[in-house]
Amino acid sequence: MSKSAYFGEIKLSEDTILALKEMGFEEPSEIQKQTIPIVMQGFDVIGQAQTGTGKTAAFGIPIAEKTTKDRIPQSLVLTPTRELAIQVAEEVSKISKYKGLRVVPIYGGQSIERQIKALKNGAQVIIGTPGRLIDHIKRGTLFLSQISMLVLDEADEMLDMGFIEDIETILKSIKNENKQTLLFSATMPDPIMALTKKYMKNPKVVSISKEQLTVPLTDQFYCEAKDKLEALCRILETEDMDKTIIFCRTKKGVDELVASLNTRGYSAEGLHGDLTQAQRDKVMRSFREKKLEVLVATDVAARGLDISDVSHVINFDIPQDPESYVHRIGRTGRAGKSGIAITFITPREFRQLRLIEKVIRTTIKRKEVPSISDLLE
Ligand code: ADP
Ligand code: MG
Repeated sequence: MSKSAYFGEIKLSEDTILALKEMGFEEPSEIQKQTIPIVMQGFDVIGQAQTGTGKTAAFGIPIAEKTTKDRIPQSLVLTPTRELAIQVAEEVSKISKYKGLRVVPIYGGQSIERQIKALKNGAQVIIGTPGRLIDHIKRGTLFLSQISMLVLDEADEMLDMGFIEDIETILKSIKNENKQTLLFSATMPDPIMALTKKYMKNPKVVSISKEQLTVPLTDQFYCEAKDKLEALCRILETEDMDKTIIFCRTKKGVDELVASLNTRGYSAEGLHGDLTQAQRDKVMRSFREKKLEVLVATDVAARGLDISDVSHVINFDIPQDPESYVHRIGRTGRAGKSGIAITFITPREFRQLRLIEKVIRTTIKRKEVPSISDLLE
């Protein structure tokens, strides 16, 4: 038996505690505090908390603790996007570093042969997107008979992306009666609730309340502008920025803004669903390595991404609903670092802004477009 130690009040193995220390995790976040102990006891758990609250480790830590050294898939995590599959796999690998688990991300766009090899090589924890996972199940290259822990991560986003049927297919193909099912999500729309009723056994629900749902570390502003491009460029000139993500409503909007910014001498690249996996990886790498000044993205492309040191989130187009606003600004002000969010609005969009304020119970402050004289300072 390996020795144990404490993460806050949660008793874990020394291996995991050491790995968490190296990751800079000294205290559990609220969702971790409330879910890890009951997951460790074996309950099915529904965890609801806003983006950026540490839901990955809330299931990643129990996976590290519970997965055995047997060279067979035992834990399966479903994620909505490829990037998220990779990111979650990286975090679970880090947490289980000293236990030495084999964690394998499985997603579309990567060579299936390579994945088959990784699976044959004794993968114990599988993190993947629904489509590609089903592909492997059908080919008989992924065996689910020993899966004892199944996690649906960012369940609301999987719903938005139309994965409900795929998820059900996977849920049905795991025959192990004793498996434990966990579901994590920022919000709990009805179809997700229906899924939990159908597939989870007396789940314990942990919900971090709305009051705690705001992002206090993000300073939030709106900026009323007739010419949004001009206003954006002035802000890029006057703000002290580290990494900046700009959100547009559509893929076309992303491409157009990238072109306009490039013309004006900014190094900007776009991230959206029409790119190939290789293109997306390249853009993300440049952005993480700060070779890009700004990343321009659609909501879908940026979902769940955890990029460190994002100083600014700019909503070039106001998000369609408050939830999407919370998701977007959740890209900054993470893990104890402060960030700035600026939302551009046209006069007609004031009502949408007020609705967002109401839901997040936070005042979004007015910011003037920097004047020409500000630019010269
Ligand atoms: P969510 O899935 O809820 O959106 P993540 O799991 O992506 O959130 O976590 C957000 C950020 O917080 C990540 O950078 C993660 O490494 C960090 N983090 C999570 N838990 C802790 C912790 N206990 N201590 C310090 N940082 C943490
Ligand atoms: Mg997450």
